[in-house]
Amino acid sequence: MTEEWINQATSLSRKADGRYLTAQESRALDAGNRLLELLPVAEQIAQPGISGFLVGAIAVGASGAIYFGANLEFPGSNLLYTVHAEQAAVLNARIHGEIWIRRIAVSAPPCGRCRQFLNEIQGAEDVEILTETVKPARLAEWLPHSFGPTNLAVTSGMLTPRENPIAAPAGPLDDLVQRAWEAARHCYAPYTEVYAAIALLFRDGLIITGQSIENAAFNPSLLPLQSALVDVALRGLQAAEIATAALVQAANGLVDHEASTRELLAAVAPRAQLKVTTLPAEAPISTRRSAEP
Ligand SMILES: [Zn+2]
Repeated sequence: MTEEWINQATSLSRKADGRYLTAQESRALDAGNRLLELLPVAEQIAQPGISGFLVGAIAVGASGAIYFGANLEFPGSNLLYTVHAEQAAVLNARIHGEIWIRRIAVSAPPCGRCRQFLNEIQGAEDVEILTETVKPARLAEWLPHSFGPTNLAVTSGMLTPRENPIAAPAGPLDDLVQRAWEAARHCYAPYTEVYAAIALLFRDGLIITGQSIENAAFNPSLLPLQSALVDVALRGLQAAEIATAALVQAANGLVDHEASTRELLAAVAPRAQLKVTTLPAEAPISTRRSAEP
């Protein structure tokens, strides 16, 4: 019966725009109460080309819909580019407009980096974490004495809808750059204000975008290309089929995504071309406050 139930969940979860169950589908399957049993569905998305470990995560959004995610590793590049299952599941929820995560189930206890990543959600302390081996508990218990957005006077979070003050590129834009620019307007980069996104054109004409997602502690931040590759994996697409990528970033000298994007793109899609559009930062960098109390 469980195998049949998992097969049903697997087929319902496969959508053209990602891997998830709507709130209605989740209710019909009683999936919200059986998240740990559903982890094999998430693990099917994993691309563990370095570790060989399949890690799955399932995030329940504020809407009641549930979002699958898994670890993505990129052989031939750098371990730093690895995306963890929790990051993929939360990005999946973000792509579909969720503004909060009620709970997240994971194949193994979340690593320190993922706890820090989850802490970038507004209201993160109340996100419940479920694993096979540890009693369900709120993030506040998994990550006590945390450092997060509020320490840097950022009152929103990575799932809060945003409209960034990014300048429009001069002159007529090709479609791909236009899509990247539109995505950059909604990225989460409150710490550097280097608003950035990428648009990937596949050989069959499909375009996938990904946005920069920053973190108060900087290191669990995601490049636009990492975010886009999560979407590529969730849709069951092959990154090697990317023909062209357009990176748009608002430059202010604090960070530059071009070199790392080139490196990761070369590993996943060696034949792809990269176009980079740099925009002047329109708004001055906000006055930064000390992280010290
Ligand atoms: Zn992790």
